[in-house]
Amino acid sequence: MAQDFYIYNTISRKKEIFIPVNPGMAGIYVCGPTVYGDAHLGHARPAITYDVLVRFLKFIGYKVRYVRNITDVGHLENDADSGEDKIEQKARLEQLEPMEVVQHYTLRYHEAMKLLNTLPPNIEPRASGHIIEQIELVKKIFEKGFAYESNGSVYFDVEEYNKNHKYGILSGRTLDDMQSNSRALEGSSDKKSPFDFALWKKASPSHIMHWPSPWSEGFPGWHLECSAMSSKYLGDNFDIHGGGMDLLFPHHECELAQNTVTRGSGGVKYWMHNNMITINGQKMGKSLGNFITLEELFTGSHEILSQAFSPMTIRFFILQAHYRGTLDFSNDALIASEKGLRKLIQASKDVQNLPVNNGTPGNSTIEKLKEEVLNALCDDLNTPVALAHLFDAVRIVNQVKEKQIEINETDKNNIVSLFNNFVNDVLGLADDKAESANSGILDGVIQMLLEFRASAKQNKDFATSDKIREKLNSLGVSIKDTKEGTEWNLN
Ligand code: ZN
Repeated sequence: MAQDFYIYNTISRKKEIFIPVNPGMAGIYVCGPTVYGDAHLGHARPAITYDVLVRFLKFIGYKVRYVRNITDVGHLENDADSGEDKIEQKARLEQLEPMEVVQHYTLRYHEAMKLLNTLPPNIEPRASGHIIEQIELVKKIFEKGFAYESNGSVYFDVEEYNKNHKYGILSGRTLDDMQSNSRALEGSSDKKSPFDFALWKKASPSHIMHWPSPWSEGFPGWHLECSAMSSKYLGDNFDIHGGGMDLLFPHHECELAQNTVTRGSGGVKYWMHNNMITINGQKMGKSLGNFITLEELFTGSHEILSQAFSPMTIRFFILQAHYRGTLDFSNDALIASEKGLRKLIQASKDVQNLPVNNGTPGNSTIEKLKEEVLNALCDDLNTPVALAHLFDAVRIVNQVKEKQIEINETDKNNIVSLFNNFVNDVLGLADDKAESANSGILDGVIQMLLEFRASAKQNKDFATSDKIREKLNSLGVSIKDTKEGTEWNLN
């Protein structure tokens, strides 16, 4: 590739040049959501971070395979090995089948991610669809001598592993630290040691989602799915594994241990972790009353919000911080982001119609800006620095518009491609007003047709009124006559 791309690798704790396992290809696995509730602000950050990663790798010429899973079984209440399955708990509370819960929230998640302009992954595997692969993986871990069975459940033997490997190498913990800070966990009495983690859990009689296995009727441990599915779709050794920092321990540490004993290596070349979002300086949590779903943000229906914020404003807000830094969310910060985004989008529209003269800002200023944006993104996806340079371009656009400076044809082409390539394609920022304007136009046009139809009906010209209905139907617009008038919907 023409560009050297550097990624901060969590495991080495330094920026490393990206050299893929297979030249020209980039394989990425990202831990997706556990689908038992609506997507919230905490889901937006990894989704947008890895979306920009995928877009950027494509931009610099890689063929990307992006895998992001859906966790629909095995993720227990307290993120460890005890408690109720998060999805079953929700199903019980709402009197639904667990798979109804999964389907409902998966679709909602997809809708929210689409609004945020994130590209869908190339493969979106579900844990429950890969039970066979997970059982095979447990068998392999047994063969290698790192698993034991206890009352129908199977655990990974962390102390055995730690004899020749370093458990904790990814998250920066040592078993000694963990030993001095831990006490025996409730419900972990099947385990030889409290550090051991479940590979397979025997289902209790009340448990709904369970499958047969050589050990018991049960379900896989949460960490297993990502090891099983990443090797299935990306191979035993692949390039980038992403996720939030909250997944570093125990989830990714356990995944790494599973990979190491079954693949002969950690399996992952670069581990990337995005930092968390705080709200007014506080951790986000349901119990703290500051838990904000994306829908609440998009509609403004949360007490800490003074207005609705568009999905693009959220996207811009997230990209204004480097993905490894903390990001504090507040109503004021979003209002500032909204203004910033508006300026950027306005300039990206204005740039198409800039007047061209013989003058030039000189010293190939615009070419230099392009290089600086590219360098920022090559430096571990430094989106805030890239945006700062794009705002330098906004200034140039405004100066040309106000006839303070002149540009020539080449400058104009360069500045247009700067906005197209980086604002739109790589950072994925678009004008979300355009969409609402489009839907406003659509509504106006359909209302007009409905008025024609109503007057045709009044004149007993049923041929015309039926024709309008049929034509709209064939275009995917269904109409329904009610007492209040005619409603229309897109099918
Ligand atoms: Zn995972």
